[in-house]
Amino acid sequence: MPEPIATLSTLVIEKLSGGITAIGINVPGHSQNVMNQVFMQELEQVFAFLQQNPPRGLLVESLRDDSFLAGADIGQIDTVWSLPPTRLKELCDNGRNLLGMFASLPWPSVAVIDGVCLGGGLELAIACDLRIATENHKTILGMPEVKLGLLPGWGGTVRLPRLIGTGPAIELIASGDEIIGSQAKTLGLVDACVPVHSARESACVLIEQAIASGDYLNRRSELQLPHVLDKPESDFLLATTGAVIVGRTKGNYPAPMVAFNTIMQGATQSISEAAALESKAFSKLAKTSVAKQLLRVYRLGERNRSDCGLGKSAQLTPNKSLRVNELQKPSIVGAGIMGAGITARHVRSGFVTKLVDINAEALGQSIPAILQEAAWDRYYQKTNQERVGELTGRLMSSTQLSSIAGTDIVIESVIERTDLKRQVLAEIESTVSPSTIICTNTSTNPIATLADVFSDPTRFCGMHFFNPVRKMSLVEVIRGPDTSDSTVASVVLHAKRLKKVPVVVQDSPGFLVNRVLTPYLHESVELLREGVDPSRIDKVSRRFGMPLGPLELYDMVGLDTAFYAGLVMANAIGDRIDASPVIPALVKAGWLGRKAGTGFYTYKGAGHDAKIESVNEKLNDLIDPYRLAEQQTTDEQIRDRLFLPMLLESLLVLDEGIVRDGCDIDLAVIHALGFPAFRGGVLAWGDFLGAAEVVRRLDQFNDLGPRMKPPARLLAHAESGRPFTSVEESGSHSRKAT
Ligand code: NAD
Repeated sequence: MPEPIATLSTLVIEKLSGGITAIGINVPGHSQNVMNQVFMQELEQVFAFLQQNPPRGLLVESLRDDSFLAGADIGQIDTVWSLPPTRLKELCDNGRNLLGMFASLPWPSVAVIDGVCLGGGLELAIACDLRIATENHKTILGMPEVKLGLLPGWGGTVRLPRLIGTGPAIELIASGDEIIGSQAKTLGLVDACVPVHSARESACVLIEQAIASGDYLNRRSELQLPHVLDKPESDFLLATTGAVIVGRTKGNYPAPMVAFNTIMQGATQSISEAAALESKAFSKLAKTSVAKQLLRVYRLGERNRSDCGLGKSAQLTPNKSLRVNELQKPSIVGAGIMGAGITARHVRSGFVTKLVDINAEALGQSIPAILQEAAWDRYYQKTNQERVGELTGRLMSSTQLSSIAGTDIVIESVIERTDLKRQVLAEIESTVSPSTIICTNTSTNPIATLADVFSDPTRFCGMHFFNPVRKMSLVEVIRGPDTSDSTVASVVLHAKRLKKVPVVVQDSPGFLVNRVLTPYLHESVELLREGVDPSRIDKVSRRFGMPLGPLELYDMVGLDTAFYAGLVMANAIGDRIDASPVIPALVKAGWLGRKAGTGFYTYKGAGHDAKIESVNEKLNDLIDPYRLAEQQTTDEQIRDRLFLPMLLESLLVLDEGIVRDGCDIDLAVIHALGFPAFRGGVLAWGDFLGAAEVVRRLDQFNDLGPRMKPPARLLAHAESGRPFTSVEESGSHSRKAT
């Protein structure tokens, strides 16, 4: 191994044979290599060193496994919000100019991308003359800045379109999607995709070829030129990509559209003019409240990723009192909608998984769907058939419960009948080893009701996934009365290995998500009974940012399921929110929602993928016996009647200690219900309005009874002016109520 010739705190300079110099990146104190202030300063020093000691060629690589460079240090982004626009522009220009050094010095440079290469990390890589990605499955490339409400500010919108073409660059930047090495090779983003062990050698070969041919100098000149689109190409991008972005963002997330316009305008300009456009756009986006909220949501996710679910004091490191197991041998019992989704997620995450269902036909039908889902290629938006073949060996199915004997975690997902669940859970306990963790995916049964069948209830808890499992990333980990800390921490860790977002909740009716969802769903039916059109109610909700309106959601969940869940909730919170008579009437009529082809809407066909045809014309007749006095209701009132009760219920959940704090509520509603992330979650939305404004708005709904009565916690916040979320987290919100 050659000796390093200079070692800084984040960078190491090493001389390789043939006059090639390698810069190795190793940023301490972070789980990934990140671009913090020290890194940027040291990069400047490295360029000064190289000018004194010129190499024949330069290689940039990471010195740690699976992390090339994950972009700017988010911890330092906070300072960005308080800076004036001129200073923000300056920061963009300085960073971009520094990275630009790679392609302005008189020797070729190549980036060896092994592991995560995102944001500023990819901007650094595309500033080099050449790039090699590895076949490591942890090698991912992308510019995810739009997910924080920003755009790449260090040359991404300038260099990427010139490198891979305007259309593909817009797609990558405006979606914020990540791609793997082979996809990057297809796009022309990297020059080669090779096995990890030969990456450095291949990079040296590329450098020698570049020196010999001098091609890299021509390439540099070409990349300086405007990338002028011909008219049909430009019209096509404006008409299609622009429309896709509007469809995806619904006007709520400004960054993708700003990125699109910046790239389109910058493509026709000189590189310095395009750079000026980028800095201007970045500094404008950085000042939006959407960017602030998205950063907060990102932080909530970070907190979730680094915590074991037991609060601040407990660490994930196993110790004497806390045994946290990395579970390896999962089994799922029940191959219905949920069991199949949970199994697909396990197979996709690399687990050899056992699936048991007493119904051989249901089991047989579920297997192809599970494999198709597990092998879904997000980038190409279709199943990778080659992958289906590879994954088949990871899935084992049986109709016999005895087949799960050697398993270390079982997730029960049989039908929602208490007696059956109790029987199946007892049978599972008698089949598996004493150390096996046992979870239930029940949505309504209190964990306590099921826990008493166990001889050892410490190893039992709820693990509640959301439908559809492939889309909804939240998992509620529900503590039963006797669940041990070790069980909770092991299940939390397991959920994370499935790339889910686990939130630990106390055992109580509806747990967290169904509890805060209930008032919202209930209110939509009350509005119907007052004569408001169903499609208007759903439209108001979607305009607020929800992926589905409440009545569309009822139809998706199934009215029979909703009826049963509604009964459980009415038992618990019936003093404020009773069970609506309309839901059982729909069930009695056989209008069970999308799966039956009829519910609040009628569908083209029946089943989970059926599309809405129109509002169910017979709905009015069915509602007639349950009519309430007709009201003149504005869209703003509909919005407030749907979402304020969700906020009130969240405050009561906090009072009851069902979750440890409001961050978990905001994270949960975003990841389970699709609550709009640009609003930061339900409590952050409450802060945006301000507690006093919430009280004022509730005042107009006084006549609706206890469900609109401000709870004590709300009144206290209104009195003190204290935000629902903590001050450090929510930052200062501009008080423009929407
Ligand atoms: P489902 O009716 O689609 O599937 C249940 C499966 O369990 C069936 O295939 C059935 O054959 C099987 N089963 C019944 N008895 C069994 C036994 N003794 N051993 C093995 N398998 C048996 O139900 P689902 O919608 O997948 O719901 C499963 C669980 O997930 C329920 O507890 C439900 O409350 C919960 N859940 C459902 C949703 C949802 O939206 N559907 C969301 C979250 C949680």
